[in-house]
Amino acid sequence: MATLTFMGAVTGVTGSMHLLETQGSRVLLDCGLYQGGREEEAHNEDPFPFAVKSIDAVVLSHAHLDHSGRLPLLVKDGYRGPIYMTSATLDLIEVLLKDAASLQARDVEWENKRRRRAGKVELLPLYTLDDVEDVLSLCQGLEYGERIAVTNEVDLTLRDAGHILGSSIVELFTNESGQQRKLVFSGDLGNSQAALLRDPSVINEANVVLMESTYGDREHRSMQETLDEFENVITTASQNGGNILIPSFAVGRTQEIIFRLGELYQKGKLPQQLVCLDSPMAIAVTEIYHRYQNVYNQEDKQAIEGHSQTAEPSQKSLHSFLPTLRYTVSTEESMAVNRIASGAIIIAGSGMCNGGRIRHHLKHNLWRSQSHVVFVGYQAKGTPGRILIDGATHIKMAGEDISVKAHIHTLGGFSAHASQAQLIDWFSNFSNPKPRLYLVHGEEAAKDTLKKALEANRWHAEIAALGQTITL
Ligand SMILES: [Zn+2]
Ligand SMILES: [Zn+2]
Repeated sequence: MATLTFMGAVTGVTGSMHLLETQGSRVLLDCGLYQGGREEEAHNEDPFPFAVKSIDAVVLSHAHLDHSGRLPLLVKDGYRGPIYMTSATLDLIEVLLKDAASLQARDVEWENKRRRRAGKVELLPLYTLDDVEDVLSLCQGLEYGERIAVTNEVDLTLRDAGHILGSSIVELFTNESGQQRKLVFSGDLGNSQAALLRDPSVINEANVVLMESTYGDREHRSMQETLDEFENVITTASQNGGNILIPSFAVGRTQEIIFRLGELYQKGKLPQQLVCLDSPMAIAVTEIYHRYQNVYNQEDKQAIEGHSQTAEPSQKSLHSFLPTLRYTVSTEESMAVNRIASGAIIIAGSGMCNGGRIRHHLKHNLWRSQSHVVFVGYQAKGTPGRILIDGATHIKMAGEDISVKAHIHTLGGFSAHASQAQLIDWFSNFSNPKPRLYLVHGEEAAKDTLKKALEANRWHAEIAALGQTITL
């Protein structure tokens, strides 16, 4: 009988990993990095809880590092089998994993300088660019809806999860001596209010469903309210002559913001003459989004194709939808942006301001009362982003103490995850009797609340436990 063991993103939202076993094969679902505090991240060094060489195939739900970021470690430990994902995910992990490896190399080098001076043993990075290249050589890109055999006993189909580009809901069909079972792993489910991507695919049949529950205890603010507020900030900033800084995550959120600014531009409601995307990684990701416009939702695709008058049909993209968008790739170009005193919208990473070029823009703009900073994503405790939204009057930024005079805004409606109602709605599509449902990828409170909300619909859900094995 096929079994499934929950191995990560069980008690929290990072480190996603599960193992499907049949009599003759073992398939790993996701291989994610633990992210967050030091304690959480220490788990990245833990040995894998299975014999790495016994794995026959790996399936990756999407590119986010908390789902993909330990793949280089798996390969470093000797894994040589195929890694399946959508083609868009494959393009994205090349950017994300290489960036992760470079950051680790930089951090370790920094720490080792101190260690050498102190006569201590030097550290090694978790993995290197070579390990990432090894991962990429094993990856196979699939189309949504395609069904392939990943082992003799397990078939795979990926469905659109609408969470980030290429994200998928994983359908796995097992067949052991004529006994057939089906597992559906939701991956991260998208927010149907979000721009560009489609709603998560509806699936009707399964024996067991593994569902994420990041926002199992929350509803999103309405998108219209959020967009109205965004428009207000843009108008005000233009009137008082300041720049707008938008700290943003490179994958997904940045492209959504570009689309929303494009909508305003097309309606003649974007007075700013310049939108800078000042992040090499976000630029690379935006270019990948351009290659996969076929997976955008119909409405937004039509908006982009209909309004970019100047571009050739084949050239129509987010970039032509927002013609004032400028990429700043080099450090020199980025520094030139620092000298712009007014009238620019600057999108830069990192999303929580704890790294990246946004820190320099904050240093040059926070002290001016005509500047605006717009937060469009979650700000974790302890990050500069959180300190700013909590109302700090001074902040240490890029090595200087900066007085905060800028207007700080938080736009609550952007989210890449399904809300409680959207999660319940997605599960409601499964035919009766409902499949056995296990909740993963959520904090305790989110899972408990979601379980109760599901029970109010008479649907039973179990909260998965770390290391627990279930039969399909
Ligand atoms: Zn994700
Ligand atoms: Zn996730």
